[in-house]
Amino acid sequence: MKFNTKTIHGGQKPDAAYGSVMPPIYQTSTFAQSTPGGHKGYEYARSANPTRHALENAFASVENGTHGLAFGSGLAAIDAILKLLKQGDEVISTNNLYGGTYRLFTKIYEDFGIRFHFIGMENAERIEDYINDKTKLIWVETPTNPMLNIIDIVKTGKIANKHNVLLAVDNTFATPYLQRPLDLGADIVMHSVTKYLGGHSDLVMGALIVKDKDLAERLYFIQNASGAICGPQDAFLAIRGLKTLHVRMQRHCENGRAVAEYLESHPKIENVYWPGFKNHPNHAIAKVQMSDYGGMVSFTTKGNNYEEAIRIVEKLKIFTLAESLGGVESLAGHPASMTHASIPKEEREKTGVVDSLIRLSVGIEDEADLIADLEQAIG
Ligand SMILES: *Cc1c(COP(=O)(O)O)cnc(C)c1O
Repeated sequence: MKFNTKTIHGGQKPDAAYGSVMPPIYQTSTFAQSTPGGHKGYEYARSANPTRHALENAFASVENGTHGLAFGSGLAAIDAILKLLKQGDEVISTNNLYGGTYRLFTKIYEDFGIRFHFIGMENAERIEDYINDKTKLIWVETPTNPMLNIIDIVKTGKIANKHNVLLAVDNTFATPYLQRPLDLGADIVMHSVTKYLGGHSDLVMGALIVKDKDLAERLYFIQNASGAICGPQDAFLAIRGLKTLHVRMQRHCENGRAVAEYLESHPKIENVYWPGFKNHPNHAIAKVQMSDYGGMVSFTTKGNNYEEAIRIVEKLKIFTLAESLGGVESLAGHPASMTHASIPKEEREKTGVVDSLIRLSVGIEDEADLIADLEQAIG
């Protein structure tokens, strides 16, 4: 089955009871048993729920995995991966990464005795310098947020494999439409389903997908033991969202390209960060690793003026000023005052998050309207 069919049919079958094409929302906490242990595959809804199960099968299908797991948020999914580790273990992580992931690692798991090394991974060889016999996990986010750097998953996977270390990839920005990390050598794929997979800004959810039975069992044990599952209503919405992923992503990529090219030609714009540009520092990897370049575009204005950036995001009418990304509607964010405000100015500027940086999640509206909106706001 090809990808564009998998998003609709992958792992799905009509419901056994009445043949409903969409899985029913099994809004129940428990399931009747005929005799102790005599049930139809479901006993208690934390352990498994048929609606969530249908979604988990769909996740496994689109990422070319064998097992999918759905969680109450992206961070709950990352939390489950960290619970594979023990006190004294070490993790090597991308340094330019989602703020909530950084907070989970440093403010919670460091206190449990896990050590993190945050490094730039654009040059994958650097990773080996940090590997020792305590290293258990390599954490990669690609493209990174908000600078859209690209990390070579194949090279990183070879290093992880050689040293018997797990490689987990946060595939939220790219989605399986653009890149499939399990095929490239990763052990675990993670998603904030809140973003592109859900796609309609109407739910908060996370996912993990693996291709190894033992790893799936360990993660399932953690999911059930810790309990950070998603509810059946959200599972239903995510199934519905996933069915149009390929169509939405195609348009996100087209509009992302149009917006990036428009900004690149604008006299008031200094830098445009979008991996599709030939002069993007990691364009060569992006070209091989991804099938297109996605709908995320960041840019800075000439003079790097904080107030001017605020003025631009306030003036936008179709782009909504908001956190998050990946929905059908276009969003704009100002990292220095929003997502990255808690990071000291000097620190954030080292990774490129300067005062005038604006991050766009380009939606699937009409391209001309989006460009006209940017035009009136930038002036
Ligand atoms: C949003 C996001 C997360 C966290 O997911 P939640 O669903 O908000 O918990 C993790 N990684 C990336 C790249 C994200 O964009």
